[in-house]
Amino acid sequence: MPLKEINIFRRHGKQYVPDLRKAELPAIFRGRPIISRDITATQATALCNLCPVGAIGMISVKPGMKPEPKVIAATRLLPDDVSAPDTKSPDGSRMEFSECTIDLGKCVFCRECEFALPGKIRFTNDHKLASNVRERLIISPGNDRPIQLDPVMVRREIRYFFKHALKLRQVSAAGDNSAEMELNAAGNVNFDMGRYGIEFVASPRHADGIVITGPISQNMAEALQICYDAIPSPKIVILAGTDAISGGIFSGSEALSREFLNNYRVDLYVPGNPPHPLTFINGILDLIGRQ
Ligand code: SF4
Repeated sequence: MPLKEINIFRRHGKQYVPDLRKAELPAIFRGRPIISRDITATQATALCNLCPVGAIGMISVKPGMKPEPKVIAATRLLPDDVSAPDTKSPDGSRMEFSECTIDLGKCVFCRECEFALPGKIRFTNDHKLASNVRERLIISPGNDRPIQLDPVMVRREIRYFFKHALKLRQVSAAGDNSAEMELNAAGNVNFDMGRYGIEFVASPRHADGIVITGPISQNMAEALQICYDAIPSPKIVILAGTDAISGGIFSGSEALSREFLNNYRVDLYVPGNPPHPLTFINGILDLIGRQ
């Protein structure tokens, strides 16, 4: 090989991420947020009203009661009087402000909340955001722990059949091509998830699972169902990106048809708008039990 080409290769350095499990992203990346413990009800209310997708929630509980995890996932109360720390429940009884949360299944990572209250909200560069438990995507004040899967909730057949090879069929259900591009990148020479035997395949007949991107429009609902039905069992379902997890900015639109998600168990939620390839790959590796 001529000396010139050898020097070019040396200058380029490594053209791949050597260790996907330990790879770190630059500080500019918007990953897992941290909410300050001392955020007040007034500040939380202002953020609720600011967030374009309703990702910021205020948990309110009746005096003397503790919020339950499922309540945390479902409740978003907006008091009329933003200056008041207490608010009222739908039945009219007095509620107390408990805490402010960010739901990464809804967040589009615009950072508006961080810009508005930089001392109270901070986005870290932690890209490991995926979980198999929807409630684990909800960040509460003072929580600086990494988001993890619950291994107990992983179906046994997933790790038994797919630990060493996993073929996936991707369905863009009204996606905007951003999540799809990042999933494509997960297989390129840089991230190379193929090194773990994880690949996208053209036919659902060759796939072990389906990766859904986009908010699932009515136009795509039937095609998604046909694709799912064509995949042999056992099969897994992965939602990649905010749009797929919650509808994102399209949430509540009449053009969506998300009944599919009521009928099948979701094995992995991958937050991001769009999700980073490292978020996707590490989430799958956790799901199939690879180190
Ligand atoms: S970064 Fe997320 S939580 Fe904050 S305002 Fe934007 S969408 Fe809402």
